[in-house]
Parts: sequence; C-alpha cells; structure tokens
Amino acid sequence: MSFKYPVSRPGLDGRELEYVTETIKEGWISSQGPFVQRFERAFADYNRIAHGVACSSGTAALTLALRALGIGPGDEVIVPEFTMVASAWAVTYTGATPVFVDCADDLNIDVRRIEEKITPRTKAIMPVHVYGRRCDMDTIMDIAFQYNLRVVEDSAEAHGIRPVGDIACYSLFANKIITAGEGGICLTDDARLAGQLAHLRGMAFTTDHSFVHKKLAYNFRMTAMQAAVALAQVERLDELLATRREIEHRYDQGLKNIPEVTLMPSRDVLWMYDLRVQRRAELCAFLAGEGIETRLFFKPMSRQPGYLDPRWPSLNASRFSEDGLYLPTYTALTAADQDFVTGRIRAFYDAL
Ligand SMILES: *Cc1c(COP(=O)(O)O)cnc(C)c1O
Repeated sequence: MSFKYPVSRPGLDGRELEYVTETIKEGWISSQGPFVQRFERAFADYNRIAHGVACSSGTAALTLALRALGIGPGDEVIVPEFTMVASAWAVTYTGATPVFVDCADDLNIDVRRIEEKITPRTKAIMPVHVYGRRCDMDTIMDIAFQYNLRVVEDSAEAHGIRPVGDIACYSLFANKIITAGEGGICLTDDARLAGQLAHLRGMAFTTDHSFVHKKLAYNFRMTAMQAAVALAQVERLDELLATRREIEHRYDQGLKNIPEVTLMPSRDVLWMYDLRVQRRAELCAFLAGEGIETRLFFKPMSRQPGYLDPRWPSLNASRFSEDGLYLPTYTALTAADQDFVTGRIRAFYDAL
C-alpha cells in the first residue's frame, strides 16, 4: 500500500545527483575514488570529531565499533530495552551478550538503572539517542569512567547530536535524518580505533597484499555512489535539521489540547515525530484510510523472540510500546500537509 503521506521520504534535492553522476562518469563504483573519504571528512568535521569511518549500514557501524573495542564472547554490553533490534544484534554478532536496561519517560535508557546491571563481565554501554533525544551523556560517561567501561553511542536516529563516547555510530538508511540509501559511519577521536575500524571494515587486508588475514573481519565497505549521496546530504545537514525543527513545532502546535494525545518531550534533533495516543489501533487504521502512514513504537528487547526474558519483567518500555506511534516526518512535508495530518487526528477523536 502506498500512502500520500508516508512516514518518511528522503530529500534528495541537493547535489546528490550531481555527485553520483560524477562517480559513474569516473568509474568509481566500488569504494575507490575520493567520495568515501570526502564524506568521512565532512561528517567528522561537522561533528568536530577527528576521524570518520564509513561503512555499509548502521548495524555494520555498531558491529565494527564493538569489535574495534575488543568486545567478544564472554563480554556483556549494556543496551536499552527501548531501541531498534540492530543495537542488540550488533552485540550478539560479536559473540558478546546484550544486557537490557529499561527506558525513562523520554524513551532513552534510564541512567538510574544502569549500575544495577553492571557485572565483572560488562565491557561497554551502548546509549541510543532514541527518536533524536540526547541521552544523559554526562551521567553515562561518569558511570563508564567509574567502572572502566567503553561507550558506543547508537546515533542512528541522531545526526546533529555531538558525540562524546569512544565511538558514535550512525545509520544512513533511507528513512534516517541524512541518507545514502543504505550506509553507516563511525566517528571517533581515537586514531588507533579509527585504524581498527577501517581494518575490520575492509576484511583485515594487510598492505603487502600477502592475503594473510590475522583477524576475522568483514566486508562492510561503503561504495563511492553511496558516499556521493551521503556527502551531498551532509552539506545540507544544518538546513535539513532546521526544517525538521519547524516540523516539530508545527506538530506540537497542531496536536496540543487533544485529551487523548500525549505529546512527548522536545527533541534535540527531530528524526520521527513521536507521540502517545489512546485507541492507537483504531487511529492508525483511520489515518491509513486518509492516506497517512504511521509507525508503532519499538518493542522492548526482552520481548523479542531472540532475547525473550522468561521472567517477563515489568517495563516502562512496554507501556510506551503499547500506545506510542510516529507520524510522517520528512523535509518535503509542507505546513498544509501537517495541518491535514493533525486535523485528521483531531477529527478522529472529535467523532468518538
Ligand atoms: C536504523 C537504526 C539502526 C540500524 O541502522 P541500519 O542502517 O538500518 O543498519 C540501529 N539503531 C537504531 C536505533 C536505528 O534506528
């Protein structure tokens, strides 16, 4: 089913086509040519971080980050309950075990609950800036310092939030704030870690072409065509974030004072406009009939088949996953489009 107002739509009206055309004309269809490095430099500079290592997806970025930090079998990594499954999978791919911590009312990891989950096996914390809200990084960095843990930020939904952990990982999937279609990037200030990330990304090849590979590595390279799109997107990131800020304000205005709708705390950068509602299933069906796509909130990790916790702990994250959803959020959404969306939501509740 295709919607007049999908939840997301990439905005490719900058220099994307021009740069992609250049890669094709020059024959840079693999990771050769200058675009991958130009993108890495541009995104690192934007965030005032020393090194960027681009790769094939956000999930790949998280996996590379954990591996570069030496995390593997026998280790534990603290991961939020309320996230996309890729955060946990990246930990599982390395052979380590994700240990889940419930979320607070802003949907981010509840920093008051982290320490009780730390064991002698804990090696790292993976805060996720959910829907563009920055985690309480001061507290997380303090805990990490105290217990000698590494910090891998899952910034897949948070381009524009300045990283402070050991490595920050971004997704460039088509529905993210900036995109390469598919893609990801790690940022770090540590030159040694950046070298490890690049080494693991590229199959741990040695420079002497000896075909001796000392580590189990990956082909997680990004192509020049993806990097060309991503570079054009970074060049407009400030503009895209400003447009998204306006979208956030307009939804806030349009949805206030509807008793059945609970607005969420404001965001540091807007990825998806999230809200909590009564009669969610009926509302979503009604909106779908009006051409408006919605998406439900994440399911808690310990409710996922792969991580099912038989103790079924009572979670804040479960409450949110039952009544939360997000609305169409993309830069081409006009004020009139937004007014239509909020008007239909209001109409739905008025008719009850
Ligand atoms: C999108 C997303 C990912 C995965 O990124 P991909 O590029 O799709 O692999 C990881 N974590 C979070 C929080 C995400 O939203």
